[in-house]
Amino acid sequence: METPPFSELGLSAPLLAAIETLGYERPSPIQALSIPPALEGKDLVGLSATGSGKTAAFALPALTLLDLKALHPQVLILCPTRELAVQVCEEVHRLGAKMRGLHATPVYGGAPMDRQLRALRDGVHLIVGTPGRLLDHLRRGSFDPSHVKMAILDEADRMLDMGFKDEMDELLGSLPSDRQTLFFSATMSPGVSRLIKSFGKNPQIVEIQQKARTVSTVEQSYFEVRQRSKVEVLSRILDMNPPRLGIIFCNTKRSVDECTEDLVNRGYAADRLHGDMTQMMRERVLKRFREGSVELLVATDVAARGLDIDEIDIVFNYDLPTDPEDYVHRIGRTGRAGRSGRAVSFCYGRDIYRMQTIERFTRSVVRRERIPSVEAVEGRRADLIFDQLKERLETGKFDAYQDNIDRLLEQGHTPTDIAGALATMLREASGREGSLIEEDREPERRERPQRNERPQREERGPRPSDNRFERGPIPQEQGMTRMFLSLGKTHGVMAKEIVGMLYREAGLPDGCLGRITLFPKHSLVDVPESLVPQVMERTRNARLRGRPFRIDVDRGPA
Ligand code: AMP
Repeated sequence: METPPFSELGLSAPLLAAIETLGYERPSPIQALSIPPALEGKDLVGLSATGSGKTAAFALPALTLLDLKALHPQVLILCPTRELAVQVCEEVHRLGAKMRGLHATPVYGGAPMDRQLRALRDGVHLIVGTPGRLLDHLRRGSFDPSHVKMAILDEADRMLDMGFKDEMDELLGSLPSDRQTLFFSATMSPGVSRLIKSFGKNPQIVEIQQKARTVSTVEQSYFEVRQRSKVEVLSRILDMNPPRLGIIFCNTKRSVDECTEDLVNRGYAADRLHGDMTQMMRERVLKRFREGSVELLVATDVAARGLDIDEIDIVFNYDLPTDPEDYVHRIGRTGRAGRSGRAVSFCYGRDIYRMQTIERFTRSVVRRERIPSVEAVEGRRADLIFDQLKERLETGKFDAYQDNIDRLLEQGHTPTDIAGALATMLREASGREGSLIEEDREPERRERPQRNERPQREERGPRPSDNRFERGPIPQEQGMTRMFLSLGKTHGVMAKEIVGMLYREAGLPDGCLGRITLFPKHSLVDVPESLVPQVMERTRNARLRGRPFRIDVDRGPA
């Protein structure tokens, strides 16, 4: 759906400035349709799925309404879970970043009361909370409802499903009757209708009509990947199957900039396309893309509109789009003119719900794929080099270098060594350095949530640290033997070089290596037990960073 720019929606300058900083180029459909009536003071029912950008659809009007000089709760946002309350509050802070003196706080169960009490006592303009805990605060008197001008129900259907009906009724009943109410829900269930009837005032209904679209010639898959690992995973996918031309779609200009810079730094022929560029810059980039001197175009939806190129092999959803229609437009850039195409999406955490909305919308199944391991990528790169080498040999398109090669042979180097050293140099010259990411340590397939699966109620313990890959003791997997390698960080060795060396020299099968840990003067590598003799045997004359080394079964600290 074509939407007007944010500047035409009636938002204040500080909000527009924050939107600009966030890099949102244009409103999502639910934002474009909800913001104007909400700003007029109307009650609203927004029917829209998770991931459609609905948080900003209600947070922007809510922030507009606030009188920052009056430090008491003026907006109340109800969310089903603690996780969502935190996320919504974060988005409120991001969108309100240019509103000086703004106080917004999340309030949820399962967390200590005293901090929340302190935050409420110190004064807040906006509260995002789960119904149970908010009701506690209402009853204790720590939440004063008397100045609330706007109440927002986020995921009303889920809150009802989770059994919060009574809490919601009591909370809404305590608010001033002249307040504005915005109801957001994925579905219009009887329970939601009742809520609207009881607490809404002739609300305007905003529904995003989605015509299902199919995209049959494109092979669609997705990878579960954290934000910070996206570039590494993108590189691995690109290296496994180097495309002739590919487009990488991001949701924001900032994401486009960051992704382009990362790709260029990694040695890819990438360039960007986004809404801030002049027509001339745009055309220059597109010309280079058509000619193939730029192989990867990193773009926002707006910038890629009207782009008409048939030879695109792959489209990435580096960020999943907020509008499923955008997904269809994006992936429709590949698989054109009878060619086959591939669409790869990155998602993580709650994105998975958005992926399900996309699947429903496109009536297609998007397959989950495993992230290729560093070893697999190294192996594939070596294969590609040897394929190219073979082609050269077969076509005879190479110089003889007879004298130089003879000299090396006379010095006692074998033809195999010379060819091996050349292949290594070629691989190194490609300049790409894979690195291990947390996802490499998560081989178990995490099950996708089923459509109707609900997260647990708010009382949940803390989540395990996301950083377990980097820290803590080093557990050893079953069937693995830890090997000691006599080179480490001070020798400039990197994990991926160890991986590459073992793969090449010891001829290990793809993906068989376990954890690699670098220490200043040595490294530990987990190798499948059965392959230990092969590693020791075949790496006897190998070098790392030009140095000989010793590799042996680790016997632990002396
Ligand atoms: P939500 O549906 O509110 O959970 O939003 C989904 C994601 O889309 C969040 O990461 C938002 O930051 C992002 N988002 C929201 N509105 C826009 C927009 N207009 N342009 C780009 N990204 C957006």
